[in-house]
Amino acid sequence: MAVIFEKSVPGRHGVSLPDCDVPEGVEIPDTLRRRADAELPELSELDAVRHFTELSRLNFGVDTGFYPLGSCTMKYNPKALEVIAGLEGFSDLHPFLPQLRHGGMLTQGALQVMHELEHALCEIAGMDAFTLHPMAGAHGELTGMMLIAAYHRHKGNRKTEVLIPDEAHGTNPSSAAIAGYDVRPMPTDTRTGMLDVGALESMLSDNTAAIMLTNPNTLGIFNRDIEQVVEIAHRRDALVYYDGANLNAILGKFRPGDVGIDVMHVNVHKTFATPHGGGGPGAGPVGVRENLEPFLPVSRVVKRPDNTYTLDYNRPLSIGYVAPFYGNFSICLRAYAYLMLMGAQGLIEVSENAVLNANYVMNALKDVYELPYDTVCMHEFVLSARRQAEQGVHALDIAKALIDRGFHPPTVYFPLIVKEALMIEPTETESKETLDAFIAAMRAIAEQAGSDPDALRKAPRSTSVSRPDETRAAKTMDFRWDEPFREKGG
Ligand SMILES: *Cc1c(COP(=O)(O)O)cnc(C)c1O
Repeated sequence: MAVIFEKSVPGRHGVSLPDCDVPEGVEIPDTLRRRADAELPELSELDAVRHFTELSRLNFGVDTGFYPLGSCTMKYNPKALEVIAGLEGFSDLHPFLPQLRHGGMLTQGALQVMHELEHALCEIAGMDAFTLHPMAGAHGELTGMMLIAAYHRHKGNRKTEVLIPDEAHGTNPSSAAIAGYDVRPMPTDTRTGMLDVGALESMLSDNTAAIMLTNPNTLGIFNRDIEQVVEIAHRRDALVYYDGANLNAILGKFRPGDVGIDVMHVNVHKTFATPHGGGGPGAGPVGVRENLEPFLPVSRVVKRPDNTYTLDYNRPLSIGYVAPFYGNFSICLRAYAYLMLMGAQGLIEVSENAVLNANYVMNALKDVYELPYDTVCMHEFVLSARRQAEQGVHALDIAKALIDRGFHPPTVYFPLIVKEALMIEPTETESKETLDAFIAAMRAIAEQAGSDPDALRKAPRSTSVSRPDETRAAKTMDFRWDEPFREKGG
């Protein structure tokens, strides 16, 4: 596809403003004037519209097709949330508006949304307090690790390491390391797909600041020993961090706070249907137990006795700012609207249907693809393409072949503990017809791996680029395109 400069024709333009018939107010000094014309493409309005519409069609999104990208919860985001986030009373607020002067009336609604969302999250997760500030899941993890460090520092504990199961999400070790901890991986019990409690007991020491759990874990398995894990950790004053990005599986069924979890984050851009992909925006609110509340980031929304809201910055033990102003307010607003839209019963059905859909797809595929952990799954599951690999067709080829069939590929080669991993998360918003079409495509690909493996290795054929060298593309990135334009003398 041509870039916009290739479509440029000298002298063509898309807007026709009337000539200015009043004197220019300010004379721009010569030193500030351009010497040469700006190198901008010259197009008609229609050409510009067609160009960007064509570009947008190269994108794949939940609004265009099934997107079972494991771990990412690519479910449908109701459009009503966009309307609410666009209301002027919210979208035109300036972060410097006073909370108190003029009765603070302009900001009261926004503060109330933040306060009520924090309380809804406390209710859903069983935690005592939430901060909305972290701007992504991994940012929530880092905030959580900083809170744990602040807790230990305050108690005079000298602890340097964090234990993380090898079935945890990949961001967990990074977050713990950035917060200054040494990371020690704990093995998974290969029969159950859960953390090996025996290994935990032997690795835990007075030097352990925290255990970081992803639950349900990256295999889509719920840790049934979680209560015991928390109890073992607390014996040594190690805190337990709960990566709650997979909350979509457990809404209304399990509350991490009820088993004594100390710190957790949730991904509103997964569970609460706010937009995500391509690096943001998102929000990773962090919940804590009461004893960690004093360390939460500034500011905190406070409800006063007269039912008005204000922001509290006077928090001497706080870890400080983790985000500009109040985090991604408009994303949190969408999450709030989603919670109101679904209601308590609706949220329970979200998880029930997410788990049902995942188990349906898993059971329809496990005779043709290897299922390394054959147990009831939560909202996602992991297959292995080991059998197909023996025929020369790898997880990557299967992913690419799905593109030609109109589906976004699942996550591949993750988690690392499964060879040739295909991590599939259908989400609750998909119909049975869509799931059946995906199952049919996966089964057809498995069959083709036996009959025509070469064709699969050449997929996709339907895209403008088939198989870029991803490493080279990332390492020698070059977005410039200016030569032909210059040649034209523009
Ligand atoms: C997505 C995810 C994260 C990271 O969240 P981001 O918003 O992408 O930073 C962490 N843990 C789990 C289990 C996840 O699925």
